[in-house]
Amino acid sequence: MTSSFHQPIDAAEVPRFAGHATFMRLPAVTSAKGLDIALIGIPWDGGTTNRAGARHGPREIRNQSSLMRRVHHVSKIEPFNLANIADAGDLAVNPIDLMMALQQIEDGVAAVVAAGALPLSAGGDHLTTLPVLRAVAKSRPVGLIHFDAHSDTNDSYFGGQRFTHGTPFRRAIEEGLLDPKRMVQIGIRGSNYELDEHQWAKDQGIRIIYMEEFCARSVDDVMAEARAIAGTGPTYVSFDIDCIDPSMAPGTGTPEIGGFLTREAQAMVRRLDGVNIVGADVVEVAPPFDVGGMTALAGATMLFELLCVMAKGVAERR
Ligand code: MN
Ligand code: MN
Repeated sequence: MTSSFHQPIDAAEVPRFAGHATFMRLPAVTSAKGLDIALIGIPWDGGTTNRAGARHGPREIRNQSSLMRRVHHVSKIEPFNLANIADAGDLAVNPIDLMMALQQIEDGVAAVVAAGALPLSAGGDHLTTLPVLRAVAKSRPVGLIHFDAHSDTNDSYFGGQRFTHGTPFRRAIEEGLLDPKRMVQIGIRGSNYELDEHQWAKDQGIRIIYMEEFCARSVDDVMAEARAIAGTGPTYVSFDIDCIDPSMAPGTGTPEIGGFLTREAQAMVRRLDGVNIVGADVVEVAPPFDVGGMTALAGATMLFELLCVMAKGVAERR
């Protein structure tokens, strides 16, 4: 099929391991103008409270994403023919000034939104999602489908620090960026700081599907509920790689055992088909703790899964 949209470099012509690494071997562009979906790297982990390293995520996800092909093997979606997609580069974010970094991420994503493209970003730690939401949800609150081992709705750390990767969704609700009644968190597990740790989140109306509940239900059942909660309104999708079990995704800052299989994560994202996705991310891939690139490969593959459902949605709304 011939298309005027950007296409990945053909691996039958240039080997996958040759050349400069870009997301999915797409062209690197300097502006999101003309794109339907902009792949962006956000190499910043200044919100990390435990072991750092997610700042190195985008480069390694680009490397592993060279294995992504053109056709989704289950849904048969061909994202690069349905939507114009390119690698819009990394946001050059200040690694030592948190407040400046948040502003730079917001400005960078706002430029993508202003160009008419949907942002699909690779983090970076989970605090990067807050400034992304400030850009994406500037005009109205959005819903959220959130895959994570952690709720990320804590109030503060270290004597009142309100901006960490454990607090982005609390801040986003306070700032009116998210409609908590259209929020679902899937895969939550691990030990807590407090007995009533998630009470604030529940009081806002957030639906938390703990890992134990997921295990007692099917992927189809859980995702039917998630789609019903998000409804037809604009919805952001945030995928923290630590929702996957650390036996399959060890390269992350705050691992929690008892997580999803990679194939369960893939199946869940495929069932986002039909959701009005206005942006998405894969965060918390930390290559310094990775083994053989397996976490970055999982992150790259989840980015491709998200890209497929987003591209189909773009084509359907066109
Ligand atoms: Mn998180
Ligand atoms: Mn997490």
